[in-house]
Amino acid sequence: MDERIRRTVAGANLGNNRDSTRQHNLSTVLGLVHSMGGVSRAQLTRATGLNRSTIAALVGELVHLGLVLESDLDQEQQHGRPSIMIEPGPGALALAVNPDIDVVSVALVSLGGHIVNPVRFHTVRAPSVAEVVNIVSAIYTGMRTSLPAGHRVMGVGLAIPGLVDPVDGTVIEAPHLGWRDQPLGALLSDALKLPVTSANDAVAGARAQATFGAGRDVSDLIYLYGGASGIGGGVISGGRLIRGATGFAGQLGHTHVRTGGVECTCGSFGCLEAAVTREELIAAVGLAPGETESLEEAVMEKLRDGSASRELQAIIDRQVQLLAIALKSVVNLLNPSLIVLGGFLRILVRAAPGALAEALDTPGARGPRESVAIELAPLGEDPILVGAAELAFEPLIRDPAGFLRPPEHNAQAAVPSA
Ligand SMILES: [Zn+2]
Repeated sequence: MDERIRRTVAGANLGNNRDSTRQHNLSTVLGLVHSMGGVSRAQLTRATGLNRSTIAALVGELVHLGLVLESDLDQEQQHGRPSIMIEPGPGALALAVNPDIDVVSVALVSLGGHIVNPVRFHTVRAPSVAEVVNIVSAIYTGMRTSLPAGHRVMGVGLAIPGLVDPVDGTVIEAPHLGWRDQPLGALLSDALKLPVTSANDAVAGARAQATFGAGRDVSDLIYLYGGASGIGGGVISGGRLIRGATGFAGQLGHTHVRTGGVECTCGSFGCLEAAVTREELIAAVGLAPGETESLEEAVMEKLRDGSASRELQAIIDRQVQLLAIALKSVVNLLNPSLIVLGGFLRILVRAAPGALAEALDTPGARGPRESVAIELAPLGEDPILVGAAELAFEPLIRDPAGFLRPPEHNAQAAVPSA
């Protein structure tokens, strides 16, 4: 644990005046409490190199801001004096939003990455942007009225199955939703009176995996998520999310996997997401539209009890081989130590254990393909919603006191005294 903390702190820029140093230290402490879910004062002291009284003052300020709680003594500590544990406060929340072709998912997420009250609003067809704004507004209004006193929603994180302008939240293209150049970020911000930060859904999922999930201690990680709207990816290299020149890096769903394949929504032929689809599995298992969330369970049950059709088995085998082709390219290009597969891609690993690793590890494969591990994204807390909340928490964690300063205070500070 301490090694991880040290790595988080290492390389950070120390501010060169008192205010920026204090802001930096508050940010570091809050970031550690957020990602670790709970950390002792002693660990914070060791990790930051700051002295005990400075840590006590910083924690005191974060408690005062309502962002962390000091709780019982650290029971696990075996040596030395017991240390007070610092945990994320439950009152700092982000609203996570993830529209898709058959459902609009909305949840409040607390610091520490815990989903508080998820709502999945099913739609009979792909919702329009205006419908998403109405659905999210109605759900948020209901959530807000039942929030305990002192709880505060810091902002909205919007995860989109498509290309999003990371600066203004405009959905440039979400082909499965039929959206093009839609200012969803701005519309939601107007409707909810909250700041909105947007990203591609798989990029959000990758952030969640890197902060809380399988990728916690991994600095070179590929996250690949398969959903109703195709396959998206996020790449973390050297501990940083790869964004690319215009913020669209990681479009792993459009990796070329076969010649002469079916046409993809991007206009090319033979892309991974056109060849490996959730819909094909749903049809082979025979699930009704409202039952698609139980797809993984349904496929695994059919394989277990021997009732899987030859067709289903053939689809799985083919999808595994095509996914392996995409992963080989990606692994050769980026040399990750870990690949995390989420959404329906989990099924391909579970249904054909070892097949993917075997296909990657072809005889003679040395270098990057020798040592890459494949893990499943956990099923529990929806990583896309947790990752969307990370987008909203980012400015708070960067400058906790500044973010929470009342606007009138900011305004006064900005106007020189007469
Ligand atoms: Zn494509």
